[in-house]
Amino acid sequence: MKLIGLLGGMSWESTDYYYQQLNRQVRDRLRGLHSARCLIYSVDFADIEEMQRAGSWDAAANYLARCAAKLQDGGAECIVLCTNTMHRVFDSLAAETDVPVLHIADGTAASLRAAGVEVAALLGTQYTMEQDFYKGRLEQQGVKVVVPDADSRKIVHDIIYDELCRGKVVDSSREKYVKIVDDLAGKGAQAVIFGCTEIGLLLSQSDCSIPVFDTTLIHVETALEWAMG
Ligand code: GLU
Repeated sequence: MKLIGLLGGMSWESTDYYYQQLNRQVRDRLRGLHSARCLIYSVDFADIEEMQRAGSWDAAANYLARCAAKLQDGGAECIVLCTNTMHRVFDSLAAETDVPVLHIADGTAASLRAAGVEVAALLGTQYTMEQDFYKGRLEQQGVKVVVPDADSRKIVHDIIYDELCRGKVVDSSREKYVKIVDDLAGKGAQAVIFGCTEIGLLLSQSDCSIPVFDTTLIHVETALEWAMG
């Protein structure tokens, strides 16, 4: 198994979810006492969130490139950037990094296509739902993306930053997400992408009327395919 470098802390609540899922998937594949070979570099999310809000994407790209370099120095053979939003700076991070950076949306697009999904709802931060870096990457790979209306996007975004990234799981927020997913299903979405790595902490398949594609789980599978073949 190759050594996987997790660039996390965005937020640490979801990095914890990545770490657990990575180890569970290795245990399920190899059984016995097997677990994942990995390094984690966990940033201070307050720094990243400030750069996001200020639109300082170049500074964020430099910051993450320095963190990725530390993982490489430690022997990481690939980088898993444990957040959808910060894939906003994927191109520059990948260009600055010598080992492969495994894009979170590529595995997601492949899973959607394999399931025959042509139109998918996307839930994530406003950056992810509104800018082109993520939707565009999915659409280039043959998946049409629909997002909630502006008011609902704000609700989804605020719950991520005010609750999920702070470890708060609130029933009334789950209900809001369920309603938003139902609305999008009514508008033709055949599946919903949990395009934020914390959403799986709040919502699961059993809450949703359409199939769920959780990017954290898919990203972990992508990393293990790469590390174990
Ligand atoms: N983890 C989230 C995501 O997947 C949001 C936090 C962040 O902005 O990185 O987009």
